[in-house]
Amino acid sequence: MATYQYITKGGPISVVGIPDAGESWNRAPDLPGDPRWRSWPIHITVPTAYQGSGKEVDVRLCFEEALAVVHNCVRPGVNPKCDQYFLDLGKDRRPDMRRSLTDLLSYKLIFYRYGADSVADDFKGGGKIAVTSETLWDNNVNRYAIISIDSHSARSPVSLAATIVHELAHCAGAPGRPEDAKWAGMSKDQRAPYFGAENALKVCGMFPQYNPDIYGEIQDRFTRAMNIRPA
Ligand SMILES: [Zn+2]
Repeated sequence: MATYQYITKGGPISVVGIPDAGESWNRAPDLPGDPRWRSWPIHITVPTAYQGSGKEVDVRLCFEEALAVVHNCVRPGVNPKCDQYFLDLGKDRRPDMRRSLTDLLSYKLIFYRYGADSVADDFKGGGKIAVTSETLWDNNVNRYAIISIDSHSARSPVSLAATIVHELAHCAGAPGRPEDAKWAGMSKDQRAPYFGAENALKVCGMFPQYNPDIYGEIQDRFTRAMNIRPA
């Protein structure tokens, strides 16, 4: 088995599509026609018109460095409220099913790409793009999570780390947003829990990545609308 500098404590992450990033559970997309189950390419070339771009991104390295950022969030003394915040997200669960961010970093994490058939098409759409990410499946008994992430998020390790923290907050119990009709009729207080996943970024020291407009959507999907400035 290949060893990596930055892996989850329970074993290597799997970045689906990267040949040596996850051994036997590096597999073909489960549902190739579904935008949520795309495989990752080895490299992503971010068009020069997009922020943080111009360079070719080594996808495996980006995931490794992003995981290092997330691990750093829970280092003793760095963000003292982060783990407790995650445990509180699971307050409606049985105590033995509540998970801190540290706990979730021991899960097997399987990452699919969320997007178009070709990665180049992921970046079409001018100066404003929406990054989408979704927790496809998570299982607290078997301690794994399958997460699909838009390639925009992988333009930098910090951006990818924020997306991973958001999705892991869903695994900890942050709810996904109800359907539009119900959402429209809800008060500010009623809506508050649905910002739980994105609020995790603030508690875990990722202020620059925090976006107050992001809430959990149905099936734990969220859309990160960003104004991308020319590099
Ligand atoms: Zn979400």
